[in-house]
Amino acid sequence: MVTGMVAGRLALVTGAGSGIGRAACQVLSREGATVIAADRNYDSAMQTIKSHIALASGSNAIGDHSAAEVDVSDSKSVQNLLKTVLTQYKAPPTIIVNSAGITRDNWLLKMSEDDFNAVLNVNLKGSFLVMQSFANAMTEISSSGSIVNISSIVGKYGNMGQTNYAGSKAGVVAMTQSAAKELGKFNIRVNAILPGFIRTPIIETVPEKVIQSLLKLVPLGRIGEPNEVAELIAFLSSDKSSFMTGAAIDVSGGY
Ligand code: NAP
Repeated sequence: MVTGMVAGRLALVTGAGSGIGRAACQVLSREGATVIAADRNYDSAMQTIKSHIALASGSNAIGDHSAAEVDVSDSKSVQNLLKTVLTQYKAPPTIIVNSAGITRDNWLLKMSEDDFNAVLNVNLKGSFLVMQSFANAMTEISSSGSIVNISSIVGKYGNMGQTNYAGSKAGVVAMTQSAAKELGKFNIRVNAILPGFIRTPIIETVPEKVIQSLLKLVPLGRIGEPNEVAELIAFLSSDKSSFMTGAAIDVSGGY
């Protein structure tokens, strides 16, 4: 028998081929969910499945974990993913984790319109498209669900070189709060997580000098690990957080 906080639930995780999304797949499967790892890079999503099958508790009520290719910024691609999932599992996921995200850093005075649009399209519009399509499917079939959107601490405080990224992540919080107000009547909860600096490929382009100066502002004095965000994702996905919706929670070492 499968046990765990989210036992028997079907979870879709975007950006699942790397970092926080991959860790979310691992923790959700450890807690008994069947996981669909979706990423624009199918091979990396499949790698997540291969690596987390070893961690999973084994059989589960819904079916096997799977990998899928999706570009969250493209509505057709998101619709195709929904169709594939409904065909394979005969029901929509009741846990959605929007972790796909990109950066295209530059100073405000130098940022190109393309870089601004690219970041807004993936981080903000992508989360919107996935929420809209999958929440629609959820309301038709299920009596409850949980959506977890990954924002960033930068969306709250801003960051030099990240006007596009910070704007997109502030938007994710506002969008989360608005969706929570609309979807409460369906018992679908929508919450946001604001990670601080987490050790994943997305921060590889940040110069070491900048990281060291930012760490001085982190009371815990270190970079976080992806699983430290994933544990909160699992909590927010589960009934343990059944009275939480519209929340925006920092996981930042106190930054
Ligand atoms: P990551 O390791 O780069 O993972 C992001 C994943 O999303 C990658 O596999 C990426 O694929 C995928 N992706 C990018 N664009 C996509 C698209 N259009 N459709 C589907 N998948 C797409 O970064 P991470 O640190 O885990 O980031 C996860 C989330 O946490 C992001 O939203 C990020 O903004 C947020 N976050 C991270 C930090 C941090 O310090 N790490 C802090 C605050 C917030 P490619 O590799 O092909 O681009």
